[in-house]
Formats: sequence, structure tokens, C-alpha cells
Amino acid sequence: MVKKGSFNLFSTKQLTRSNTYVLIFWFIMFRGVNLRRHVIVQTQVDRLSKIPKFLLAYTLIAMSSLVSYSCTPTSKVIQLPEKSLFRSEDYIVYRLQGNGTLADLAEKFLGARKKVWMIEEANPGADFSKGNAVVIPLKENNRGGLSAEGFQTIPILTYHRFAEDCNSPLCMPKRLFELQMRYLKENGYHVITPEELLAFLEYRHGLPKKSVMITMDDGYRSVYDIAYPILKEYGFTATLCIYTSFVGVSNIAITWEQLREMKANGFTVGSHTVSHSDLTGSQEGETELAFIARIEEEIQGSKKIIDKKLGQDTSILAYPFGYYDQRSINVARQAGYKIAMSIRRGGNPFFVNPLSLRRDQILEGDMQTFLSRLKTFNNLSLK
Ligand SMILES: [Zn+2]
Repeated sequence: MVKKGSFNLFSTKQLTRSNTYVLIFWFIMFRGVNLRRHVIVQTQVDRLSKIPKFLLAYTLIAMSSLVSYSCTPTSKVIQLPEKSLFRSEDYIVYRLQGNGTLADLAEKFLGARKKVWMIEEANPGADFSKGNAVVIPLKENNRGGLSAEGFQTIPILTYHRFAEDCNSPLCMPKRLFELQMRYLKENGYHVITPEELLAFLEYRHGLPKKSVMITMDDGYRSVYDIAYPILKEYGFTATLCIYTSFVGVSNIAITWEQLREMKANGFTVGSHTVSHSDLTGSQEGETELAFIARIEEEIQGSKKIIDKKLGQDTSILAYPFGYYDQRSINVARQAGYKIAMSIRRGGNPFFVNPLSLRRDQILEGDMQTFLSRLKTFNNLSLK
């Protein structure tokens, strides 16, 4: 949908019809954000009043052009004033000129190439070719992904082990995993890190509309041998939740050295406890005190081991079997975890408890089920 052409800066003074629509969209977005804030946050901030005069002028030009040229071909262009770069507190209107990409603009104006999605999403349907104007938002106006139609939700996918051919639902065939990752890439999904997810859950930063996180539980060697090369090929990373007593103990287990290598390549290593025991019920013959001591050892002890082995402050926990209760949440919080995940099905809007996140296990061997797990918006009319 989005065309990323190369461009030079300031080469022409013309604004095409498609980008006129973008400017109108942006104007409406500002109004929309404003209205949502009134409804949800109950503030009286009037952002419309902050829109500089030039954008209002542009919008008037754009709207009048729609009336004047409504029957003319879409190649018809509108003359812009001499100035080609506009900046306000909230955004920049920039004219594209070749020799660069949108990622270059993201780096130049937003400080990180990774923020290119902010430019893409601010200019839906725009033609990013030479001479056209592009809106660069300088502020995140909708960190929670809320709109009058509903709210953004982040799917977290869960895998376990991989093989060429599988005979268990917990095993993902290599060919199918490759297809799934290719689908994410070709369809504009952003595979996010736990840090990015936490910033979203704490309402500090927004996320691209099509965001998804990938997790892999237990710590099988096949994660390193099969999934890792495929993920690297697509520029994706994943969070590996390992139970420490399993690491390096057999030829089907991942090693600390492999975990270090993956971590050095942007992957995250989290805990899945020490021995993968159920944290929500006492075992046969276990006293209450012994039960509490076991939970603490599973949650705190595994963090200490991973912290030491990988030189990090482990902040992610996956509850074994997905089972958790208020006590395990409390112990996880006290131990210093920021994110803890179950396997309750469904996505995660920004307002959920980060210590009881939902995940979707990818167990089925068909693409259709996989696609159904990629829901990134929850329709709920707030009107
Ligand atoms: Zn597990």
C-alpha cells in the first residue's frame, strides 16, 4: 500500500492530489485525537487551536481544490507557496526530493530509523515520490491506540519447538514457520520487543498498528537450529522463556552460549522458572510454607541464575503451563519482573496488567488458524 520511493529534498513546489488527501486526513486526525481525549481523559485541551495557520491555510487550499477540481484527472496538482518545509511543535510538512528514504527522514526528524512507521501511518495512501509533501508527526498523539471504533491490541504468539516434520502440536514444522514469518513480513507486521511492549502497556509510547510479539517457551535446541535463522532472515527477533534446569542438559536443550549469541543479536531471554512446576497449587505432601518457598525459588531463583549467566536484569516471565494467581503475580512483581505472561488466548490492549498478559499458542498446523491469531484491533464503538 505504501510506496517507498527515493527522493531529493525541496525539488518542486507542487503538491499532488493524493497528498492533499493526506493533509486533510491529518487535519481530521487532530480533531479526532482531540475528541477522544475529551471523552477518555476528560481534559479540555484544544489541540485544534494549536494547529498553525499554515496548515489551516493548506487545508482550505486542499478543500477548495477538491471543489474546484473535482472532475479533473488525479494528476492535477496544486501550487504551493515558495516555502517547502514547515515545522510546528506537533509536526513537520516536508517536501520529498529523492536520494533518501522515509527511514532517513525518521532518523533525521524523529531520532530513529525504526520510527518510520510513524511517518507511514501519518500519511495513509500517500505517494512518497519526489515532489510530494509528507507529514511527519513529532509527537505521539495516540499512545494507547484508541479510536472511536475501538482500541489496539497486541497479539503475543507462543512457540515451543521446531522440526522438519512434527508429530506433536507443540512442534512447529520448519516449512510452516517460514511461511508464517514471510506472511508477517509481506503484510507489514512489526515484530516488537518486550521493551516496546512495556512502553505501550505503561502508556509511554505508541506502537505500529500491526504489532505482534513472538515468544518461544522452554528452551529447546531447535529454537536455535531452526527458528533463529528464519527469524534473522526476516529481520525479526523473539523472546525466549527458558526454565533454567533444562538449559544445556541434553542434546535437545539450548545452551547458555547459544542464548548469549541470540541475545547479542537482539533476542530477549526471559524466565520460565527453574523447573517448570505449577505455581498455583501445592504438590502432594507439600506444606503451605514449603509451597511458598517453592514458588519464590522458581520465580526469584530462576531470575538470579539468568541474570548471572547472561549479565542482565531479567524482566520477563512466562508462567509454566500458563497458570498463575494473585500470589504468583505478587512474587513476580517483588522479584523485579516487569512482564509476565500466561497462555490465555487473546491480545493485549494498553490497559491490561503487564503481569498477566495473554498469549496465543501456535499449535495448529494450518495458516488459517495462524492468521486468526493476528488480531491487532478490538472493535468496540465508543461513540
Ligand atoms: Zn513451558
